[in-house]
Amino acid sequence: MMKARILIGMIGLSLLGVGLDPVWSAPAVRTGFAERDISPEIGMERPGGYGKGYHQKFHDACKARAVVFDDGSDVVAMVGLDALFIREPQVIEIRRRISEKTGIAPGAVLIGASHSHSSGPTGMVLPGEFDHADALVQDLAYEQSSAADPKYLEIMVNGIVEAVTEAFETRADLRIGFGRGEEGSAVFNRRWRMKNGLSFTHPRNGNPDMVEPAGPIDPEVGVIGAWNEAGELVGCVVNFACHATTSPAGISANYPWAIEKVIRGSFGDKVTVVFLNGASGDVTQVDNASPVVQPTGEASALLVGGRVGAEAVKVMLGMSTSLTTEAEVAAKTEVLKIPRRKPSAERIAKSRELVSEKPTEAQAINDWIWAKEIVMLQALIEAEPIRDVEVQAIQVGPAVFVTNPAEYFCEFGLQQKAGSPFPFTWPVSLANGCVGYVPTSEALGPNGGGYETRLTSYSNLVPEAGDQIQDAGIALVKSMIPGEVPKAKPAPEFKGGWQYGDVPPELK
Ligand SMILES: [Zn+2]
Repeated sequence: MMKARILIGMIGLSLLGVGLDPVWSAPAVRTGFAERDISPEIGMERPGGYGKGYHQKFHDACKARAVVFDDGSDVVAMVGLDALFIREPQVIEIRRRISEKTGIAPGAVLIGASHSHSSGPTGMVLPGEFDHADALVQDLAYEQSSAADPKYLEIMVNGIVEAVTEAFETRADLRIGFGRGEEGSAVFNRRWRMKNGLSFTHPRNGNPDMVEPAGPIDPEVGVIGAWNEAGELVGCVVNFACHATTSPAGISANYPWAIEKVIRGSFGDKVTVVFLNGASGDVTQVDNASPVVQPTGEASALLVGGRVGAEAVKVMLGMSTSLTTEAEVAAKTEVLKIPRRKPSAERIAKSRELVSEKPTEAQAINDWIWAKEIVMLQALIEAEPIRDVEVQAIQVGPAVFVTNPAEYFCEFGLQQKAGSPFPFTWPVSLANGCVGYVPTSEALGPNGGGYETRLTSYSNLVPEAGDQIQDAGIALVKSMIPGEVPKAKPAPEFKGGWQYGDVPPELK
């Protein structure tokens, strides 16, 4: 929507004549935060692999953390969700219910899953998803694969709707700031060029065939902070790209737990930390080239999340003189139609044969899992050969969040930043749905390969998908007008130096 004030700016320009900049007065923005505990119960499934796993203990709460920005004519909501991913049917229901309660347009709601591998059962398989398939496939999908829990889905959906509704209802004239920092020492690209000319995932420390990382990392820590009149930080949005696989033992938000711990340690326990994961499909906390032992579990979560949280604290401390109560807010979405890759008839037949009996020996179990995936994929292709892939851009003043529903390779996020006219461009992966890994076309080419390029019921879009999603995101961002980065007030006029300091050295 082209807004009235922009039109006024244009008329102002023509009346005042060439040589004068129009005054783009951004509208007043109201901001609200809220969160809900959406922890799964002990005994519920812990998704994150191609088989089943179960939660046995509790470490810290999984949450839905929401922020709402309202500029008077447009309202956007963003949710940082402590989940492996969120599937499209739940996104549709959440957006509908939020819209009914608050009037926020469905396309202006961003739900970004953190990809926590220690969270609740939101997939892999949804209830009813394979009801159209034969008995063998249904058994593979419902009994042999990680399955969403209808009870948990309700907890998650309710939690998100309540958090966004509360954030909307409590929105106020907070002073907001924007900034970026860097944390490049705790994260690594997990794919490596190998001496055989291919690229493998997690080649493991000391592997003599490793040549160099096959892709980049993105060290940027993007931050929006929001303070109330009393000068208290009410909430913040933090954007950073790394797989949430640090996994403290038990139910956990994963390393976002440590981001929140460090930020709350600095600014108080009431701060809501909305974490949105960047293009992190091939980025990990594991340093495959490390010559020494690395921390694992909770220590690893503290290392990654602690460093990102500390960087966010540094960025927010630096914002105090350049906060604003004005920002243009906008949202746009586009749905792409992207086909799935199809396994050969021969591979499907072989896979069906292999999965008819469950093996016991380790290598055979490994082969069985990938055969199971091919059989399940074929059933999905029969029902839905082409997927809807939503891309969304959410603007808050000089910042834009550009989404993909994928475990999206880091390279794409860097390209979107390079192609964006905004001062701050923050990709959000696994947002508003899930289409699995989306590698670069290079990774699916002759020198590619690795875990993320396996053809499964989870990851199966055609090799062009990544570029299409990237370009659609850039096009949406380019159709928006970036706001100004708030500046600190000019330094006071010179009124003479400091009398204590304007003297030559005194030696006697
Ligand atoms: Zn992953």
